[in-house]
Amino acid sequence: MVTTLFKDFQFEAAHRLPHVPEGHKCGRLHGHSFMVRLEITGEVDPHTGWVMDFSELKALFKPTWERLDHFYLNDIPGLENPTSEVLAKWIWDELKPQLPILSAVLVKETCTAGCIYKGD
Ligand SMILES: [Zn+2]
Repeated sequence: MVTTLFKDFQFEAAHRLPHVPEGHKCGRLHGHSFMVRLEITGEVDPHTGWVMDFSELKALFKPTWERLDHFYLNDIPGLENPTSEVLAKWIWDELKPQLPILSAVLVKETCTAGCIYKGD
């Protein structure tokens, strides 16, 4: 049996988007309470009954989370233009090598707007 698990994380960060048109509100320095959802898809172990321990997923994400929380995202290499799209792929690239069953990274920067990246 294959299932998809997810775990949600939250962090606070500031950013500005340098490539928006002159006068666009996202060009100004501002912050968000970002939400990140990591999805993993894999075979359920018949003995444990789970795909992966949620605490293992949390531990794997911790070093990446620590690079984001309460930082100015534009200062982080690879996040010079920190849109939700760029951030979702950046998180994917950080995690995928150590977490091959990662199947999606969702980034929400407001309650109603976000991005889902599934590789490619
Ligand atoms: Zn923003």
